[in-house]
Amino acid sequence: MRLATSGQRSGTVRRANLSAIVHELHASGPLSRSELVTRTGLTRSAIRGLIGEFVAAGFVTEEQPEPQGTPGRPSPLVRLAPSRATVLAVEITVDSLAVALVGLGGQVLESVRVDRPRGHTSVDETVADIGELAIAVGGPGPSRDPIVGVGLAVVGTVRRADGFVSVAPNLGWTNVPLASRLASELAMDVPISIANEADLGALAELRRGAAIGVDDVIFISGEVGVGGGIIAGGRPLTGAAGYGGEIGHIPVNARGAGCRCGSTGCWETEIGERALLRRAGRRVDGGRAEVDEVLADAVAGEAIALAALESEGRWLGIGLAGLINTFNPELIVLGGLFGQIHPFVVRTVRDELDGRALAASLELVRIVPATLGIDASLIGAAELAFEPLLADPAAWLRPRRASVELASA
Ligand SMILES: [Zn+2]
Repeated sequence: MRLATSGQRSGTVRRANLSAIVHELHASGPLSRSELVTRTGLTRSAIRGLIGEFVAAGFVTEEQPEPQGTPGRPSPLVRLAPSRATVLAVEITVDSLAVALVGLGGQVLESVRVDRPRGHTSVDETVADIGELAIAVGGPGPSRDPIVGVGLAVVGTVRRADGFVSVAPNLGWTNVPLASRLASELAMDVPISIANEADLGALAELRRGAAIGVDDVIFISGEVGVGGGIIAGGRPLTGAAGYGGEIGHIPVNARGAGCRCGSTGCWETEIGERALLRRAGRRVDGGRAEVDEVLADAVAGEAIALAALESEGRWLGIGLAGLINTFNPELIVLGGLFGQIHPFVVRTVRDELDGRALAASLELVRIVPATLGIDASLIGAAELAFEPLLADPAAWLRPRRASVELASA
């Protein structure tokens, strides 16, 4: 990003430049001053001055690299100090709760995931459990690393502006003011950002996984529910209030089964975990362990497991054809259940796409499994929580005394 300096107030320019630097370091890891000059388009002296501010505030460290035997002094390596600014990342799924303490730059400092029996997912229990797990990872408390935000991924439709969960069918939740419930539980005076789990899985794969550097991506992930994140032109497509991207509830089968959202024949009812287990003759609420057994049976050549996966691949292909024709993505990333079954269904999906997707769009698209595995959405929640700091790091560089004066002025 090249930043203009003319016609803008110097304070605004400084803040934008600080943001550009911290963005680069957060996304790419340690960089030399010369690399920062190239990537930001700022001058050498501007970089030196701004890095000096970050160093003084403890946000970055600089180290002299080993001499290379070439003339001239090598450029110092600039590295973010992960514990100088941390976030609490939280993920609520049907099967588990996860909380992590993540440092600036994306380093996971502490992380814990607990499996929960299905049906034990009341809002009260969930919020109380998050509070305990947050303490377990070294979250809230005096003398801890400074926490600058909380990010939460939940399997439901979320109004992002105030962290309001409108509906989470597979948790049995409707109209939950989750951000405010969590704010009172955690008693931390930091922004709490909440988004749909699949949207955050997409964000994580975009920043740190299979989709780095790709601007048009569809992420689809599933367990019991099926969710998706759509990145168009490098930006997440969330809709007017943030409810968008619910690709699991695209109606695909007019004669299909009832869906937990209240409709019938949603894509989720054909490709979700329950559909796979039902077709394989397994307990539909068996969870991940039961899916593992279906895949083991398929490897062993058992007909019912192979037929169930064949069916799964067909329906996956039908829905993906619609998404490919609508969004012309460069990459489709399969996460969760779909990442796990990818090797078993990839051929059937291809066959289905060959018959249904528009040739011009199909030619361009690659379909790959997610690379971040089970923690994708948790990593995305951390990225969401860092966004305010990345957008305006200057606000966090202010000496503590000055902010107190501002508050009392
Ligand atoms: Zn539905």
